[in-house]
This record gives sequence, C-alpha cells and structure tokens, in this order.
Amino acid sequence: MRRALVLFNQAMRWHDNLLLSEQADFDQRIAVVLLDPDEYLSTQYGMPRASIQRLQAQLKLLLNWQQQWQHKRRVLHIRIGPTAFCLQQLAELYDADTLIAAEPTAPEQYQQLQHSGLKLKLFDINSLLQHQLRPDLATLPKSFSAFRREREPNLWVQPPEQHAVSAQFYADPSLALDTTALDFISRDHQPTAALFNEAAGLERLMQFIWQQHAIIRYKQNRNALDGDWNSSLWSFYLANGTLSPCYIWQQVLEFEQQQVANESTYWLRFELLWREYFRWQMRQHGRAWFSKNAFRPPLDFSSPQADPRFELWCKGETGLPFVDANIKMLLHTGWMSNRGRQNVASYLIFELQQDWRLGAAFFEQHLLDYDCASNWCNWAYIAGVGNSSARQFNQIKQALTYDPKGDFVRHWLPGKTATGSLVHQPEPQVPVQEFWLPFLQQLKVSS
Ligand SMILES: Cc1cc2nc3c(=O)[nH]c(=O)nc-3n(C[C@H](O)[C@H](O)[C@H](O)COP(=O)(O)OP(=O)(O)OC[C@H]3O[C@@H](n4cnc5c(N)ncnc54)[C@H](O)[C@@H]3O)c2cc1C
Repeated sequence: MRRALVLFNQAMRWHDNLLLSEQADFDQRIAVVLLDPDEYLSTQYGMPRASIQRLQAQLKLLLNWQQQWQHKRRVLHIRIGPTAFCLQQLAELYDADTLIAAEPTAPEQYQQLQHSGLKLKLFDINSLLQHQLRPDLATLPKSFSAFRREREPNLWVQPPEQHAVSAQFYADPSLALDTTALDFISRDHQPTAALFNEAAGLERLMQFIWQQHAIIRYKQNRNALDGDWNSSLWSFYLANGTLSPCYIWQQVLEFEQQQVANESTYWLRFELLWREYFRWQMRQHGRAWFSKNAFRPPLDFSSPQADPRFELWCKGETGLPFVDANIKMLLHTGWMSNRGRQNVASYLIFELQQDWRLGAAFFEQHLLDYDCASNWCNWAYIAGVGNSSARQFNQIKQALTYDPKGDFVRHWLPGKTATGSLVHQPEPQVPVQEFWLPFLQQLKVSS
C-alpha cells in the first residue's frame, strides 16, 4: 500500500486544483493543512511576523477548509507546529513516504518541505506559467519590461482545470486534530476574524467582473486609496491560494470576448503579470532577496537598525498626514492600496532613511494579503536594490493627485480638521523636502 500526504496550504480551493485529482502512483492519500508558528508567532527584526488579525484570519481559513471537507464526508488534518516535524509525524502515523503540495515561492517554506525528508511532488498551481510554460530560471529576464516583452506577444496561460476529489483520500477521523492544534485553536480562534475562503474569492471575482463591471474602469480607478470597486481586492485570495490565477485570467479573457475588451481589462492582466514576474524572481534568487542589497553582492543579512523615526512611521505618527493616514488604514483593516504602499515605502526609505527590510517586515506583519514574493520584491523594487533603479515618490504631489479634497486623510486621522487639501500640510516637526515646495504652495482650503 503506497500512501502520500497532501498538503493543502495555499491550495484551499476546489476549483483548478491538481492536488485533488487521482494520482496513479498512490493507493491512499492523507489531506492536511499546517500552521507553522514560526511563520506567525516568531519575530523578525524585533517585530512579530504576523499581527493577531493575520494569525486569526489564517486560523479561521484552516478551520473553514476543514469544515468544507467534513461536508463532503472527508477528513482533513490540521496540525499546528513546525512544518517539517508535523509532516514527519503524520507520515509515520500513516506510513506515507511522499508529500504532494503546491509549490511555494517563499524560500523558507520550500526549505521546510525539503526538511521533512519525504519525497516531494510539487505542483505549481498558483502561477500563471505552470507545467510546460515554466520559465527557465537561468535565462529569466532581469526587468519586468523584458519579462513582459518576452512573454506577452504569444501569451498563453495554463487553462484552469476542474478536478474531481479523488477517492484516494483516506484518514482516521479521530486524528483530524491533535491536542496541540486544539489548544492553539481554543486560544487563538476568533469567529469574527475575516474569512478569505474560496467562496468569498469567487463571489468577489464574479462581482468585480460580471456584476459591477468594475473591470471596465479598472485602469482609471486602480490608483484610488480606498473604495469598494476601484481595484479588484483579489490579493487576499491570490495570496492564500483560494483563488486560482489561471481561473481569474480565463474569466478576464471571457469577459473580453463576450462583453468589452479595453485598456482596463488588459491592465488587470498586466498587473497579474507583475505578480507572476515577482514569483519567478523570488524563485531565481531565493533567500538573497532578504539581504540588504537584495541579490547584489556582497550579500548582507545583518539585522537592520531601526531608529525612533521608524517607530513613528509604524504607528502612523510621522507628522506627514498622507503617509500617516495610509498606515492607520493598514493597522485598522490589514490592507492598503497599491498607491498607498508605494508612498509610505518611499517615505520610509528615502526621507526617513531607514533600511527597506524594516518596512517589508512591518508589511509582512500587518497585510492580510501578505505574499512573500509580492511584498519583498516590491519593497526592493522601490528601494532600487535588485533589478531596478530606485523609485522615489513626492508625497505632497501624490496627496494632491489622489486625495485632492483631503477626505481620505480626514477619515483616517479624525483629529485633523483643516479643510480641503490644506489637511496635507506636514506638521512642524517634519523636515520639509525641497521637491515638495511647489506642491505645498498648491494646498488650499477647498479644491
Ligand atoms: C511596498 C509594496 C508591498 C506590497 N506587498 C504585497 C503583498 O504582500 N501581497 C500582495 O498581494 N501584493 C503586494 N503588493 C502589490 C499590490 O500593492 C497589491 O497586490 C494590490 O494593492 C492588492 O490590491 P488588489 O487586489 O485590489 O489589486 P489590483 O490592482 O486589483 O490588482 C490585481 C492583482 O494583481 C496583482 N498585483 C497588482 N499590483 C501588483 C504589484 N505591484 N506587484 C505584484 N502583484 C500585483 C495582485 O495579485 C492583485 O490582486 C505590494 C506593493 C508594494 C508597493
């Protein structure tokens, strides 16, 4: 009897999921999800790796996935503990020698799977370019433009496939939860935590494309700082694998064929290519992305030194309203717009002169859509380490463009009462940058 464990981390979905399908090499397969406390409860540069909201959202997702298996009269194991250790224990229990899983992009997760000592069968179900489309890491283009130029002319993406749940899934129901998992769940489970499961992801996809037709105006609206329909908000589901990128891609193509194809529908696919590019970049350079210069020699993994300006930035108390309001939004909601992320990152790196990795670690802690490649590579991209030159933003100009009436800032900083764009005036303790000056003169009571 040959048995394999099937790890459903980043694969908690029924659509387009190869992990569910029959595997000729095995007689029985055992379904499992893990929560590795190291990824959530340990610290990084003195900061917890996950906020309590991020931990609770993940736990809620695992429990919900287990319930979905129960509804199908199947058993899914939940284990809380070091990845390699939990996998070894389960493998021993069921006499399994192989691990089937979604191929991670985070080097740390990959390493953990290797440390399990099991034979690995990894399927890259969360990339657009899978199977025979997989880029060769040795010849991967350095810049996004070159990557896009190479791929876009004949771009073909793996079509999503529907797989029936194999009858090979087998388990002893009494082993579904062990005592560690039960203790952890009773301590940390929060029923009101956000739930980013497949049903919510598919619903959001349907609404954004087919019901609201928000996709038609995406290019004009995507830079907004908030709002329900300005951007897709698919990042939560893509980050945890409850939505398949190939399924999204196919839905966008179908919409283009059946309803409208315009610059906006194209731009959504363009953004999904950015995600794709960073996934392959992360795989190409691995752990080097966590070095101060990214993968440029000499690699420097020393811990960055934070100073009090970093602490103020983390609290949204720098005195620059546009930056502070965006950080407050992140602290309250676990999300920040792409425009906000770019601006607060640029301010931390260039005006506050802090090591970019501190900001990346802070985002890792708080973003409910945290994704290793998208987060760390975007930070490195703005800092100008890695493959790109630095991207410095002018926060006052950006505030005037994206929050011209100051409503966003007043919403997140209710203590600020100045009207119109005057609310963007930096507080006296903020050193005024010369390149802000022409834009500071444009601040006025009403727009
Ligand atoms: C400093 C910084 C850190 C970031 N950290 C993360 C992160 O941890 N997780 C994450 O998913 N995204 C991250 N991003 C990328 C981007 O900000 C978010 O994907 C986007 O804001 C999520 O909202 P949305 O789903 O409505 O995006 P939309 O604008 O609707 O875009 C659709 C999808 O395209 C992808 N995408 C869009 N922009 C980018 C981008 N710049 N890089 C990679 N993929 C992109 C995402 O998967 C997104 O869901 C970061 C960007 C910056 C500048």
